[in-house]
Amino acid sequence: MKKAQGIIWDLSDLYSSSDDPKINQDIKAAIALSKSFKKKYHSKIAGEDCTAVLLLEMLKEYEQLIENGYRPFAMSNLLFTADGRSDVYKAMVAKVQDAMTQIKNETLFFALEIQKMPDAKIETFFSSGKLEHYRHYIESLRLFTPYTLSELEEQVINQKNLSGKTAFVNLFDEFTASFEWEMEIDGETKTLTESEMRELQRHQDPELRQRAKASHDLKYGDNALIFTNIFNSLVKDHATEMRMRKYESPIQPTHLGNGVSGEIVETMMRVVSDHYPLTQQYNRLKAKMLGLPKLRGSDLYAPVSKSDRVVPFEEGKQLVLESFAGFSPEFGEIIGRAFDEKWIDAEIRPGKRGGAFCYSIGPSVHPYVLMNYVDKVDSVYTMAHEFGHALHTVLAGEKGSLLTFHAPLVLAETASVFAEMLLTRKLLSEEKNRESRIQILASKLEDFFGTISRQNMYISFELDAHLEGAKRRLSADDLCSLWTTRRDEMYGDSVDFLPEEKWFWSVIPHFIHTRFYCYAYTFGALLVLALFNQYEEKKEAFVPKYRGLLAAGDSDWPKNLIGKMGLDISEPTFWKGGFKVIRNMLEELEELVG
Ligand SMILES: [Zn+2]
Repeated sequence: MKKAQGIIWDLSDLYSSSDDPKINQDIKAAIALSKSFKKKYHSKIAGEDCTAVLLLEMLKEYEQLIENGYRPFAMSNLLFTADGRSDVYKAMVAKVQDAMTQIKNETLFFALEIQKMPDAKIETFFSSGKLEHYRHYIESLRLFTPYTLSELEEQVINQKNLSGKTAFVNLFDEFTASFEWEMEIDGETKTLTESEMRELQRHQDPELRQRAKASHDLKYGDNALIFTNIFNSLVKDHATEMRMRKYESPIQPTHLGNGVSGEIVETMMRVVSDHYPLTQQYNRLKAKMLGLPKLRGSDLYAPVSKSDRVVPFEEGKQLVLESFAGFSPEFGEIIGRAFDEKWIDAEIRPGKRGGAFCYSIGPSVHPYVLMNYVDKVDSVYTMAHEFGHALHTVLAGEKGSLLTFHAPLVLAETASVFAEMLLTRKLLSEEKNRESRIQILASKLEDFFGTISRQNMYISFELDAHLEGAKRRLSADDLCSLWTTRRDEMYGDSVDFLPEEKWFWSVIPHFIHTRFYCYAYTFGALLVLALFNQYEEKKEAFVPKYRGLLAAGDSDWPKNLIGKMGLDISEPTFWKGGFKVIRNMLEELEELVG
């Protein structure tokens, strides 16, 4: 049997089938409940007689009604992702989405009223001790209150954004989606898209990689007028809005959204830039592995090995199970349940969605994992990653509370990336083949340099551009020079870049779509490594602390959650611990390459 044939999830823990009458009953009940919730509680929070006990009651009811609404929502989405060709499922998704929108609209008042409560009142409520469980949820909601403008001003901004910043984002998307490249491959001229061009960066042939890189980046340079305009408009727009809302820095709203302070992020970023020499050291080693005198920009994603181990599903499953169980028997047992109770859909079928995800519904139902298993080591990593999420979900659900359930963004990838590290250690402990060991280490290191160092460099550039761009209009040359300065700071002299590569700032969609988002990647990945370093140092003593972190879900700020493990993320030493793991892996690799 090949490629996970027959590994299909069992959705009967949600509903017996797609035509279970309970689905419609649940949708109707959830809408009715949201209506009665509004009738009962609208304008109550602002009232004189609102007490901490009443607010607690509302929070519990609110939590329950949202979770009830999620069940049919989850069922329709899972059915649809498992077979996107079905018109029945499409109609079901549309129907449930309408219902969810209705529920959200009916209950929107609730969060708004909490946001508008006077500080003094909420403080008295907190000091009563009754709202302890929801304190963090309430504080998170109220974080943006000081920067929120009047209702009318907010409405004007929202309306004007459609023809303002959103228009520039749409222009970027539509314009770049229309890009095509003519490339000669094996004597044939082919027309390629953006993703096909990127895939060429992983091609075995160095000459083809170099031609593809030059041609790809030059396309952006040829259209510099448009990209410079888009970039400047977005920077200016953000600067204006920050001034109106009285933020102190362009990155502050991102910090608030992530629930971390600017100082912590600055400390982390400083530690990452101090460790750029490790990236350079790896690049020199990679040049050696590829048999090149020096790495070029077009070699950064080149494959280091041709070996391709076949891992059938059963073997992959054992590897994942044993990785978790080796860390903690309890974790192994939860993942064992996930396989036995069929939380996973892994076979490849027509109509099934590509990629992978872990779908967590709420504390009362176990998560579901979708993936497309192809008998390769990469698939085993995907499985470990998604089951890491599943484990996080199960533990965070123990409190039985939806409003404290989903981990904050910077912690959202903790369990998944940690699981990948456990798998890496497991694979290395068993693999005797030198070529395969090199491949495991090199691909993991490249992952980390990509998510930690490179994203850090992106953020440094983005900050420079926002600070400079708020003062004056940036020319295309200015943007190229800000970009190459930060890039060269990271790569040092370990990589030769083509002149065309100075345009790469205009390629990255995150700068356009989700300003300053990239540091969440750096933060999340380095945090996991720092935790893994703790595990390697403290061994078993680390296990219950880590369990506590996952079980905490979103019940406190990241600094406090990690603080409860006896660790301090405002200290540079904490972040440096993450680089210890990287340095060890790099040394292992250097020894193997010889
Ligand atoms: Zn993930």
